[in-house]
Amino acid sequence: MGFWVLMMYLVGVFSIIFVLLCVSPYGTGPISALSRMIFVHIPNYSYLLSTKILGVQGTIKAKYYFMYIINEPNPFFQIVYLVLSIGGYIIYFLYGFPFIPNPYVSEFHMYIGSLLYFIALITFICACIVPPGIIDKSNLKNHLAMFAYDNALYKPNDCSSCKIQKPARSKHCSICKVCVSKHDHHCIWINQCVGYANYKYFLAFILSHSLICFYAGQVGVMIMMHIIYKEKLLTATFTDAKGREFKSSWTVIFQYLLQRYPAFVFIIILCLMMGLVLGGFFLYHFLMAGKNITSNERVKVMKLEEKGVERENIYNLGFWKNINEVIDAGEI
Ligand SMILES: [Zn+2]
Ligand SMILES: [Zn+2]
Repeated sequence: MGFWVLMMYLVGVFSIIFVLLCVSPYGTGPISALSRMIFVHIPNYSYLLSTKILGVQGTIKAKYYFMYIINEPNPFFQIVYLVLSIGGYIIYFLYGFPFIPNPYVSEFHMYIGSLLYFIALITFICACIVPPGIIDKSNLKNHLAMFAYDNALYKPNDCSSCKIQKPARSKHCSICKVCVSKHDHHCIWINQCVGYANYKYFLAFILSHSLICFYAGQVGVMIMMHIIYKEKLLTATFTDAKGREFKSSWTVIFQYLLQRYPAFVFIIILCLMMGLVLGGFFLYHFLMAGKNITSNERVKVMKLEEKGVERENIYNLGFWKNINEVIDAGEI
């Protein structure tokens, strides 16, 4: 069982990476169609659904608040994260831990799971508080010396907002209103930019959360297996509210468990899904770090390629040296 869950997980992770990295949403074929669904149809249908529920004026207002939440520095998503994360742990503590130990899950997992969760929480705090490498007049010289201009993506240029020379690989964040060294992206979950100095904490944040989600989901599945065997659900006969009898099947057992342990089953499903998404996201970022290319640069390179312009990545030192650069990076 555990093996098949792991296989499904890996296939899911690689499919997501493949769709994100390799396939244009405007091509033909089933994978392009999936990419089109994720990047074009779902946003369009969400807008249509919103105009049906809220009306056009309501949708414009909702969009305004949404844009405020994602375009201005604010702790909204940090609070959402803490509610989901701490709430998820409390539900696990209340509904999952009482079933441990059992023949499928030893007591050890209760402690190691709690420890992993605690580590994940620390990585979140580090990713939130370690500055990304903000460039100002006092450290500009050091930043200018860090990376050479490649004269393709970066040429000597001034930031019109900060009124300083823009070092190669830096970008002005319109949300934080500062120039950031080796700018990757602005992350709403940590309420700041991801850049040269905090990229490793960001990677640790998504890796630890992918692991804890998958681990908690896997242990949850094992707890459910224990309940299924203890209550002999595989050979049981189920009765619905109208008194109709059903023979056991995996669908009926799933419905029974969902009704009997709704919060816990929900948390298990959420953990497996989030483990999958975050695992894919971590692999994507890890591969990009290995190529020494930022998310910001990837977009620019794609635009150059559309114009048929070849660009050599002068920052690429080789996979492990690139990873080392990320690990060694600190405040300049
Ligand atoms: Zn700037
Ligand atoms: Zn920012």
